[in-house]
Amino acid sequence: MTTFVDRVELHVAAGNGGHGCASVHREKFKPLGGPDGGNGGSGGDVTLVVDPQVTTLLDYHHTPHRRAGNGKPGAGDHRTGGEGFDLVLPVPDGTVVLAQDGSVLADLVGNGTSFVVAAGGRGGLGNSALSSARRKAPGFALLGEPGEARDIVLELKSVADVALVGYPSAGKSSLISVLSAAKPKIADYPFTTLIPNLGVVTAGDTVYTIADVPGLIPGASQGKGLGLEFLRHVERCSVLVHVLDCATLETDRDPLSDLDMIETELSLYGGLEDRPRLVALNKTDIPDGQDLADITRASLEERGYEVYDVSATARKGLRELSFALARIVAEARAAKPVEEATRVVLRPTAVDDAGFSVSYDPAEDLYRIVGSKPERWIKQTDFSNDEAVGYLADRLARLGVEVELAKAGAKEGDTVVIGATENAVVFDWEPSMAAGAEMLGRRGEDHRFESPRDAVTRRRQRELVRDDAATEYARFDPMPRREIEPDEDF
Ligand code: GDP
Ligand code: MG
Repeated sequence: MTTFVDRVELHVAAGNGGHGCASVHREKFKPLGGPDGGNGGSGGDVTLVVDPQVTTLLDYHHTPHRRAGNGKPGAGDHRTGGEGFDLVLPVPDGTVVLAQDGSVLADLVGNGTSFVVAAGGRGGLGNSALSSARRKAPGFALLGEPGEARDIVLELKSVADVALVGYPSAGKSSLISVLSAAKPKIADYPFTTLIPNLGVVTAGDTVYTIADVPGLIPGASQGKGLGLEFLRHVERCSVLVHVLDCATLETDRDPLSDLDMIETELSLYGGLEDRPRLVALNKTDIPDGQDLADITRASLEERGYEVYDVSATARKGLRELSFALARIVAEARAAKPVEEATRVVLRPTAVDDAGFSVSYDPAEDLYRIVGSKPERWIKQTDFSNDEAVGYLADRLARLGVEVELAKAGAKEGDTVVIGATENAVVFDWEPSMAAGAEMLGRRGEDHRFESPRDAVTRRRQRELVRDDAATEYARFDPMPRREIEPDEDF
């Protein structure tokens, strides 16, 4: 069975950053030659790019899970891990990228337009990069950040200038084939066309694209058939052409009532009212058809339509029609604001990289810290390594998190959560400000960042890592962070 694919769900995952390496340089007679653990490589991005060769979203229908490459971990001797490969996904011109909630993330118009839909995780710093005057030989490294994972919807809205509407078998596909070089499927029974055809027409100096809207039948706007799916395609067109069949064998139909039916469906769909329309009376190569066209023309003109007699099979009246369309398209283009030509990609709202916010959640009785830095730092922290946890505490304190927590009213023992619910880390707050220096100096047992999950991770990682942290520890994967239940016993 043919499936009409102009809307697909796509699950993309960018590559994880490679973990940094904690390693100590060893040489004969120089057993402690300083930290030399390299940084992890960054994970690859997933990028959508408009490719003129691609006309459907079918590929993504068949394989909806796509993943970029993970960064490699760093290694001793200052060796940086390799970068994960970027995944470039070609999409047709006119692809709209939606989030799961239906909000538009990007509107991809114009060849080469691209959009990073999932960014790769940064590689973790190795202990070489983490060393400083104060911290000469860090026994830890940062974990690579997980790559972004996203569930998105791709929707195709062709960027045709002209949309042909009409009853099935009115001759829309035939007209496209004779007006342009496109070779659509033509058949004398309804519902043959399951994907909209797109053709390029050159008329004088104007080059424009023309698409048909198959499957518009009575009741389409109520979801009958696939007509509405196709209408999405022509939302961007600048002119509509009613293709009216003057030689239909169905006795209960005539060009005027056909037009009324289509207009009813269009208005129920909505949003196309402002588009200019003209009428092509098709199949006038048949004598009866020409007679009917002659009878109908006056009423159509009375309603304000420009009317063209055509025949797709006899290639009659095509020049006039194509030039009339070129004129309207050119006018529409001239009236459009210039920036419309290369549509600007909408980026997801940028996160303020510098800041963070502290808020009290009375429902769950906890303080939530949200901000790209604290959240990133959490992901970079190897909670099995006390030194790494201490480093995290230092970073948070330096950013002013503790001060803000106190301002927000947090007291010793209160629950503090860093990050949004899906991947939050929970700890009991133990203010370190009073005994700041002491806290900073102590890298030992620091359970403030420990949630039951962390304890599990910690145990698991200890097993994996043992005490050979210097060489081994860049290898494990952090356990996926899970949602925090409000009633969980931290
Ligand atoms: P669509 O459903 O509107 O795309 O219609 P098609 O282009 O598939 O055409 C339906 C049928 O009408 C086919 O058998 C065509 O050969 C026939 N047809 C299309 N245009 C003309 C025309 O100008 N004259 C005649 N006699 N038949 C036509
Ligand atoms: Mg067709």
